Amino acid sequence: MSAFATLNPATGRDLERFETYDRPHLERVLSRSQDAFRAWRGTSFEARAKLMHAAAAQLRGRKAELAAIATREMGKPIAEAEAELEKCALTCDYFAAHAHEFLADESAPSNATESYVGFRPLGAVLAVMPWNFPFWQVFRFAAPGLMAGNVAILKHASNVTRCALEIESIFGAAGFPSGVFQTVIVPGDEVKDLIADKRIAAVTLTGSEAAGISVASAAGRHLKKCVLELGGSDAFIVLADADLDAAAQIAAKARFQNTGQSCIAAKRFIVEAPVYDAFVERFVAATRALKVGDPLERDTRIGPMARGDLRDELAGIVAETIAKGARAATGAKPVARDGYYYEPTVIVDVEPGMPMFDDETFGPAAAVVRARDAEHAIALANDSKFGLGGNLWTADIARAKTIAARLESGSVFINGMTASDPRLPFGGVKNSGYGRELSHFGIREFVNIQTVWIGPDTNAAASPHDVAAE
Ligand code: NAP
Repeated sequence: MSAFATLNPATGRDLERFETYDRPHLERVLSRSQDAFRAWRGTSFEARAKLMHAAAAQLRGRKAELAAIATREMGKPIAEAEAELEKCALTCDYFAAHAHEFLADESAPSNATESYVGFRPLGAVLAVMPWNFPFWQVFRFAAPGLMAGNVAILKHASNVTRCALEIESIFGAAGFPSGVFQTVIVPGDEVKDLIADKRIAAVTLTGSEAAGISVASAAGRHLKKCVLELGGSDAFIVLADADLDAAAQIAAKARFQNTGQSCIAAKRFIVEAPVYDAFVERFVAATRALKVGDPLERDTRIGPMARGDLRDELAGIVAETIAKGARAATGAKPVARDGYYYEPTVIVDVEPGMPMFDDETFGPAAAVVRARDAEHAIALANDSKFGLGGNLWTADIARAKTIAARLESGSVFINGMTASDPRLPFGGVKNSGYGRELSHFGIREFVNIQTVWIGPDTNAAASPHDVAAE
């Protein structure tokens, strides 16, 4: 039987070993999910909401302990880990309170005596999740997914297996029936076999493009619904009339939160020429003010990266960008201490054709790009294979709305930083994936949108709607 070892990225030392689930164990999980679904789909929204509020209470009650587990497994600063758990609790409460209205029958008048649309659960949804927000990524899917009447099977990233098991225990302690939320410990290359299993109804993945291609291919082969939340290289456009002090402060937060390991982190700072130098000066100062250190210390803003290979990959992307003509304004090297640290870095004069422009920079390194004018800034922002979030800084809101409509991204935040919010849909276009999470859009991704038509036909005489042409 194979096993995973987790380790602390702040020290490089081993934490725990976990045996992977063998075939009989997976069989038990899958079969339990079917039994659970049969009962769970028949429960009322009120009953589900009670349990979801209890899950929120578990998250709040165990916040300090759970945050420390995330910090030890993947290195995020402890204050950010605690905020992540608060956000999970808020989202459980939000969907507990609103699922019934998002999924209420909708009247859809036709030539029926009565016709309406109902929203039915699909079954067991496989959730393949990344390590960067080890609690949030899971709850973002699970809170709406379970409230919709689905059951969930979580395959979490291998380096956050303790977090995965704790999430399962949270739902158990909240009183969810056995089998409604289960974790499986398997490597990524076993996901396609799970997708193939007839007991899996649908799959959601948050992760890299490579994993997205693999999951979408398997889902396509077996004709299963699939939602993909993949990478991003979000533009942060600063126009000449922007409030530069505010933009630079938020820029540092938007780039360096979670030690830069966020899909919706601002990654390409596209600045109009007249304010380029003034913005860079402020942004570099804000970056140098970030305290690098032990992620368990409360005032640390930059912890280690989650894995040594990711730190080395980032160092390579930065070095190649500099070799192609860009310049380091600050940072651009690993920190000389144990663990997988990399200095908060600002690279200026980045252009298309350099890796920090063309690829996703998943770590604490910002690319600053000079734009001749607003039109050039829009063209540069859209010159990306990704289309997740985006930011736009300007004093002219009417113009900002016009520009927002031309940006090829799943969201545009004007004079603020991209952040997910349970009340707003979240997701991307292009290689950032497809489908949406959160809000009423997200909860409807994993439901059967069922048309119900009740006769008699009120307009039986020759209506073009009656032609059964499908
Ligand atoms: P990753 O390597 O793609 O891993 C994500 C999950 O997919 C893990 O559970 C992983 O399992 C699994 N996996 C890996 N290869 C797979 C395959 N071929 N088939 C099926 N599953 C596979 O991504 P990561 O390094 O953990 O996360 C970073 C990436 O995720 C970045 O690109 C980031 O932008 C993206 N991301 C996107 C969002 C969003 O909401 N759009 C949010 C966060 C992160 P193992 O750990 O066992 O390999």
